[in-house]
Amino acid sequence: GFKCGIVGLPNVGKSTLFNALTATAAAEAANYPFCTIEPNVGRVAVPDTRLEQCAVLAKSAKLVPTQLEFVDIAGLVRGASRGEGLGNQFLGHIREVDAIVHVLRCFEDGNITHVEGRIDPVGDAETVETELLLSDLESVERRIANHQKKAKGGDKEAKAALAVLEPVLEALREGKAARTVDLGPGTAALLRPHQLLSAKPVLYVCNVEEASAATGNAFSERVAVMAKAAGARMVVISAAIEAEVAQLESPEDKKEFLDSLGLEETGLARIIRTGHDLLGLITYFTIGPKEAHAWTIAVGTKAPQAAGTIHSDFERGFIAAETVGCADFIALGGESAAKEAGRMRLEGREYVVQDGDIMNFRFNV
Ligand code: GDP
Repeated sequence: GFKCGIVGLPNVGKSTLFNALTATAAAEAANYPFCTIEPNVGRVAVPDTRLEQCAVLAKSAKLVPTQLEFVDIAGLVRGASRGEGLGNQFLGHIREVDAIVHVLRCFEDGNITHVEGRIDPVGDAETVETELLLSDLESVERRIANHQKKAKGGDKEAKAALAVLEPVLEALREGKAARTVDLGPGTAALLRPHQLLSAKPVLYVCNVEEASAATGNAFSERVAVMAKAAGARMVVISAAIEAEVAQLESPEDKKEFLDSLGLEETGLARIIRTGHDLLGLITYFTIGPKEAHAWTIAVGTKAPQAAGTIHSDFERGFIAAETVGCADFIALGGESAAKEAGRMRLEGREYVVQDGDIMNFRFNV
């Protein structure tokens, strides 16, 4: 599965958010640093109204959304790259995730200690980012030294690694994240095997006070400016509201509560969706009377490999796929109407599956 790590300084609202995300009250949110030591992992459904609408039209008995894993990585503090606080352990957990959800404290509350004694989300973001950069700097320097020895002996792999690591080192020395390095098309794929912390995509989550959940506040505006300059994504949420919504059982109660706050949907829904985008993932659907099922694939996946996410037999025996975009399916009112309107296409092995496609695979067993 794909994993997003929730990081941030202590007392910014990570655990509150994580608990709301997984709708469990298990990991308690306490008013002191280091309260959650082992990383917690939660799996959440990716909300998708397209799936719901298709399920209604097809009278599907069951709805199966795609899922994303969230890991609560607590305890990152200034000096972590030197092993301070719970130090390297946390950096190790970050290494294992595919994307970083970085929670920033944008609320004032005299009762809740800020580890650095002031509310400054942009400064906090830099503090955490610096730890990731320092950790990468150390490991890249070490790896370059190793590869240089091998490259002298004519090792081709070592030379290829150096072609990636040397420009990364240059960026890190200038205080820039590995994700800012441009190695042409396929940069992400070239960087991935090196597992650099600062190469992972980042989503900034501004945790504001309840009254500012719909509008944001002066702090989150500063983060917006920074995120824009860094080409990063950001969302504004109130962890306290998310925790309250998570307690409500019925969808009607949830909607009413959100309406009363001027919110269209939960912050969690936005985090989950943006997290999905951040990972370069798209969704296709299989829709039938038994179930309406959403499947996650990487952008650029071709039809047989997309079929393989359902079952390896589907990929091996792939013949073709009857395909219709879910927008057409929904607008026209279901499969037979889509067929009559000529919107159902037959696609072959080279077809690149698009986000929102409804696929009906034909295969040999
Ligand atoms: P973590 O250390 O980043 O995991 O932070 P927690 O989620 O444990 O939150 C630390 C404290 O801040 C807890 O007492 C929370 O109840 C409180 N807290 C979290 N979010 C908010 C918020 O939006 N507003 C206020 N006033 N308190 C919050």
